[in-house]
Amino acid sequence: MTVPEDPARDSLPSTGAVAKTAEAHDSLVSAWRARVARNPDAAALRYFDGALSAREADAASDALAAAFEARGTRRGDRVGVYLQNVPQYALVLLALWKLGATALGLNPMYRRHELRRIVDDAAAVGIVCADTDVEETLGTLAGSTVRWLISTSALDYQSRDDPRVFTTTDRPAPAPDGDLVALIEEFAGSRPAPVRPARDDVAFLTYTSGTTGPPKGAMNTHGNVLSVVESCRAWTGLGAGDVVLAVAPLFHITGAVVNAAIALLSDATLVLAGRFRPEVVLDAFAEHGVTFTVGSITAYNALYALPHAKPEHFASVKTLYSGGAPIPPTTVERFRERFGVYIHNVYGMTETTSAVIAVPPGRTAPVHAPSGTLSVGLPLPHLTVRVVDPHGRPVPSGEQGELELSGPQVVPGYWGRAEATAQTMPAGRLRTGDVAIVDAEGWVYLVDRLKDQINVSGYKVWPREVEDVLYEHPAVLEAAVVGRPDAYRGETVVAYVSLRSGRSATQDELIAFSRERLAAYKCPRQVHFIADLPKTQSGKIRRARLRDAAAPVPPSGATD
Ligand code: AMP
Repeated sequence: MTVPEDPARDSLPSTGAVAKTAEAHDSLVSAWRARVARNPDAAALRYFDGALSAREADAASDALAAAFEARGTRRGDRVGVYLQNVPQYALVLLALWKLGATALGLNPMYRRHELRRIVDDAAAVGIVCADTDVEETLGTLAGSTVRWLISTSALDYQSRDDPRVFTTTDRPAPAPDGDLVALIEEFAGSRPAPVRPARDDVAFLTYTSGTTGPPKGAMNTHGNVLSVVESCRAWTGLGAGDVVLAVAPLFHITGAVVNAAIALLSDATLVLAGRFRPEVVLDAFAEHGVTFTVGSITAYNALYALPHAKPEHFASVKTLYSGGAPIPPTTVERFRERFGVYIHNVYGMTETTSAVIAVPPGRTAPVHAPSGTLSVGLPLPHLTVRVVDPHGRPVPSGEQGELELSGPQVVPGYWGRAEATAQTMPAGRLRTGDVAIVDAEGWVYLVDRLKDQINVSGYKVWPREVEDVLYEHPAVLEAAVVGRPDAYRGETVVAYVSLRSGRSATQDELIAFSRERLAAYKCPRQVHFIADLPKTQSGKIRRARLRDAAAPVPPSGATD
């Protein structure tokens, strides 16, 4: 079925605080500049006891842009941001956008090979990393396209040195091309040569993977980001006086757009608290008077698990969202019962520049009775939703099919991959790989997944990447990786392995082997050794059979 755009959706509460909507701007830079002009002295960034006003963040990002430019960075260049949620992340974003350059989000959990693969694919020209990662990053980047490496300390922009976050106040030597804060001082008062980024310029290059093939960079343009920011703001009414806590990591599209960009462009304050630590984030809610955030359901579970968490911590919250992974209805209910705050579901993908379907503020998501699935919400303005059969034909209302999305939020394609673009988003219609049902009122329910993806706390794991690593181990003959339901993470990674004759390996050994090569969330938590993996008659390993099977492991040689 096709869900027509509902004109009434546009009339949900909208902020009156801004003269011009973000969508009316031609780039994120003009939207940011308008915000600075409107309210220069209000806090734009907070980090523990530190704060930067919009004016200060503007001046710092001007200086940083001039420093990047002095190192040869130009419009269209890709620059890696290899940082946790620190204020420098936002300054780097603003600086890159002012140059018309692209922010390449790099997960600080990546191990060498993962980092190098993405940097090479994107042909990044520079990277900003944590000072603690300089040595490792330099080793990884030798011979790459990266011409400069700048580092920064998580200790900057605050003075409290919270011992839960900072185990040492020692500062390692900066990267060869300098320390970020020192560069901002050196270039203070400078601005880069004027560039006017357009809506088609790429603001973020965000890597995602696929069932087959290497990771692909989704090109989230300025126009895409403005569209998502504006549609979310139209629903939430986010504006001056709001405080947005970055619960999602900024290297993921949701953190980048619906934590950082939305706060920066909506006159709100963006609060950063480093890598997610539940007890630190809980305090940040209360200390900064947080009114809005989006985080994974695992993050809310972690807050819920803190025995000292109280309704008072969430007293200032107006709207909480959770996206990226399925939410059990009971989780939402028990959170509301204990803290008095309702967690609104939100759906998005890297390719849709994050949030595109959401539960409107103040509404309660219905549950699809046959499957017990909590609705992910209603389409946000300007999104066209279709549910299609394998031939791309719309299915009747209430029936399940693949969710297909189009609209100004959907990226124009993957960086340098015309074939993958044509396959995943033919004629701009994104085949999500999610199986959905849309009810008569337009509520969307995700009831299954076509793609071979494991969803660990909202982080996506592609079995093929983990299997490739296991195959590098000399004792491994065959490997298949699947997701298992997990009460805390949603799903967890489990590997099935057969060994070469005469070779041996233990579970711990293979897990340790994976940990050296993969970000921790991708590593198997369990390894099962079996003599022969289930295969089709043509010899293809049947992951689905392993996934469906609760222990004990299914018999080998299955042909179904
Ligand atoms: P990513 O590209 O990492 O943002 O992952 C996008 C995928 O996450 C979607 O295709 C869905 O499979 C899943 N996802 C996103 N939001 C939700 C949600 N609210 N509920 C269930 N799954 C979700």
